Amino acid sequence: IEDIVWLRNDLRWSDNPALHFASLEAHSKSTGIAVLVTPTPVQWQEHNESDAKMGLRAGLIKQLAKQLGELGIPLHIVETERFQGLPDAITQFCLQHDIKHVWFNNDLPVHEKQRDQAVTEHLDRQGIATHRYDADLIVAKPVFSQQGTPFKVFTPFFKRWASILAEQDATPLSAPEKQAAPLSNTLADFDWEKPFREDLWPADQDIAKQRLWQFCHHKEGHYQEDRDYPIKPATSTLSPYLALGALGPRQCLEAIYYTCHENARRWQDSIWLKELAWRDFYRQLMTHFPTVSMNRPFKAETDALIWRDNEREFIAWCEGKTGFPIVDAAMRQLNQTGWMHNRLRMITASFFTKLLFADWRRGEAYFMNKLIDGEFAANNGGWQWSASTGCDAAPYFRVFNPTRQSETYDKNGDFIRRFVPELAKLDAKSIHDPTPEQRKRCAYPAPIVDYKPARLAAIAAFDDLKKT
Ligand code: FAD
Repeated sequence: IEDIVWLRNDLRWSDNPALHFASLEAHSKSTGIAVLVTPTPVQWQEHNESDAKMGLRAGLIKQLAKQLGELGIPLHIVETERFQGLPDAITQFCLQHDIKHVWFNNDLPVHEKQRDQAVTEHLDRQGIATHRYDADLIVAKPVFSQQGTPFKVFTPFFKRWASILAEQDATPLSAPEKQAAPLSNTLADFDWEKPFREDLWPADQDIAKQRLWQFCHHKEGHYQEDRDYPIKPATSTLSPYLALGALGPRQCLEAIYYTCHENARRWQDSIWLKELAWRDFYRQLMTHFPTVSMNRPFKAETDALIWRDNEREFIAWCEGKTGFPIVDAAMRQLNQTGWMHNRLRMITASFFTKLLFADWRRGEAYFMNKLIDGEFAANNGGWQWSASTGCDAAPYFRVFNPTRQSETYDKNGDFIRRFVPELAKLDAKSIHDPTPEQRKRCAYPAPIVDYKPARLAAIAAFDDLKKT
């Protein structure tokens, strides 16, 4: 075998350019290609990856091994603790098996880029060629303004992004064809395998694809009206699959094009497409502004903020015991399922950074540690947006009022009832902010922070920053 495809966060057999082109252009037609995956469990832990995400990843790799095995493509595993062990380990593996070509799709985060560069250089020294593709974004080429600079605000980015997309052929690529299998799988049980909510996210890319098409068929058209209500199953919940690449963004695009065409709508007006554009946006931001990957705020001046960082409040927030029912329901959803609805991510992050005035980096790390869809660019972007340290057109004095948010987006309190069962018997009015007597009766804590003064203190801290 001369060609091997190195899979990372692109654990899919359809619309995977490296896999597709390697299979088409394999140098030895008689033996075909093989696939390589390289677990780096210590590195993942250092990146705060959650058990849930590692569990789903292990499940997806096993499914891939099975599926590719049926096509006659063997899957091999080379495990090292960290990225830094990979250049040697992969080169050794290639030399051992006489592999002359390594195919992979580019990863965008900074450590991953460094890893890929180091592996490429090592292989090159041994005369092993690398073939690299872009698979992670809908619009892969840099989206720049007319002045040739990266966008810092989403809306103009989206306009330009959509105009590039209109010119682009985004047809997904086919899965590799069946081939003869000269090597057998080296797949064994992984010691980094972890439990996750398989009932909610089966480790199965066919199911992910089915869910995509069902979502586009039944829900995409109502997404704009319904997406902000956490009790409604109105968003796709595909983020765990997108984060690990079990589903590619262009596969989503194909489903949007089809649905819009069927319903005589312009794809440019799809609000769901806009969310996928946010995904591209944050990834491009991470690429063009490296400081965000160095634990620094996007707006450098906000590094001078002195966060309050109260330990007791931090623990209450993590455990869903803040005394704000919507915040607690959201945090318990995260802790129990590994996922949180987008509106709730905004509410809990705003609560954390503005009302508790806690350092957004701690919240970002906690989310990453729990989320099954944890993904650096979107998580960092979301946290910095909420903390007003990031790229956000809205001013820093936008501070979400959790009780008002709760009354608007969980009007009847049904989402709260699901995750904060001690409040289940309260009526739709008082459940958003129970009286002291009700709290006592339900064994539910008093609010850990007073909204009005906390809001004013946060605004004052940003005002001071402006003055200095
Ligand atoms: P849908 O509404 O169906 O959207 C479809 C897809 O678009 C999502 O699966 C996701 O891939 C992408 N997407 C949607 N909204 C955003 C967004 N605002 N930014 C970037 N991509 C988006 N998303 C992650 O994938 N991983 C994270 O670690 C993450 N952390 C976040 C942290 C905070 C504080 C905030 C405010 C948002 C975060 N998001 C993150 C974005 C968003 O909340 C999730 O993508 C979304 O809730 C996933 O649910 P869904 O698949 O049903 O989304």
